[in-house]
Amino acid sequence: MTTSTDRMRVLTGDTPTGNLHLGHWVGSVRRRVEMQDTHECYFLLANMHAFTTRADEPEEIRADCIECVRDALAMGIDPSRCSIFLQTEVPAISELTYLFSMLLPYNRVMRNPTLKDELKIKGMEDNHSFGFPLYTVGQTADILAFRAHAVPVGEDQVPHIELTREVARRFNKMYCGVPAKAPDEEHESLGGVFPLPVADVGRVGRLSGIDGVQKMSKSLGNAIYIRDTAKQVKKKIGRIYTGHDSRQPDEPGEIDPEKNPLFQYVETFIDDEDLVSDFRDRYSRGANIGDGEVKVAVSDAINHLLGPMQERREQFSSDDDVIDILREGTGRANSIAEETLALAKEAASLKFFNRTISLQGL
Ligand code: ATP
Ligand code: MG
Repeated sequence: MTTSTDRMRVLTGDTPTGNLHLGHWVGSVRRRVEMQDTHECYFLLANMHAFTTRADEPEEIRADCIECVRDALAMGIDPSRCSIFLQTEVPAISELTYLFSMLLPYNRVMRNPTLKDELKIKGMEDNHSFGFPLYTVGQTADILAFRAHAVPVGEDQVPHIELTREVARRFNKMYCGVPAKAPDEEHESLGGVFPLPVADVGRVGRLSGIDGVQKMSKSLGNAIYIRDTAKQVKKKIGRIYTGHDSRQPDEPGEIDPEKNPLFQYVETFIDDEDLVSDFRDRYSRGANIGDGEVKVAVSDAINHLLGPMQERREQFSSDDDVIDILREGTGRANSIAEETLALAKEAASLKFFNRTISLQGL
């Protein structure tokens, strides 16, 4: 694999809490696939963060790591053009997490709206672990360890990227002499260790789940997975609640994707623009079109997208092959993360002598 140091760097990733789904594809992975040719790309499996909600299921987390890589490869992530790696095998990330946790007021972390939503949706407001909120600080370290310029993510992650920018700003000013009023985009050229990363939100920043209420999410049982068979897709699309279940085909229907998830799926997955506008027009007028007709077209479009992905997925059925991909990616990830850690420690007067940790087995 060739890496070119003058390319802008990208870091993003997924928590191994289950298989990847259509929300991942539209919110982040499609963009990752495009960026492989133009950027130096690092894709992380946040397996330590998976312990925030599943510390009692270590074997499942391990299996999900392998499955997430398989799904990513199926979607077109190419290990010869990017590095896919395990968070737990890049120690610099943990060291930076500790350091960055000193730069963020506790209340600032707890005010993060995505964190608050997650605690509420997962019913953990009163009984989360100490480590749960720490994952948001950890995520700033995931990104900054790579001195990433761009982070392709779904909409829910934007507050995390804002937190990351705050850490970078504070670090650069406190330890690198970057002036207080320096514009964000000049931090690197003014001697800051960290560039201020930008959230690169996909064309569909928040795909609704088939429950039509929450975002599609691995943990909420409302997802269409990349590995779902054509039959499963059809069944799941059939279950989408459109708010019109008693509507007759000749009554007007709701086409606002915010109010009717089926229409978000029409706009997102059906490529034929004429068909989309025909559906929009007839459905909103009540011109003899029921949910059933729309659901069949949406299922067909999704299956057309997933078919080639599932064929590609079969090439990676061996766990050993997936682990080889992770081993190589993790080796490359450590090179850059160790370099960043050394720069950060030097800036924060933590360098007493040169340190090289050799990671045996990589
Ligand atoms: P969990 O339920 O465990 O939080 P998740 O389904 O939310 O899992 P993550 O691993 O948290 O998935 O997210 C990985 C990436 O995919 C993030 O950039 C996130 O914003 C994006 N993403 C996840 N779900 C969606 C969605 N429904 N729409 C758009 N982007 C999404
Ligand atoms: Mg999530």
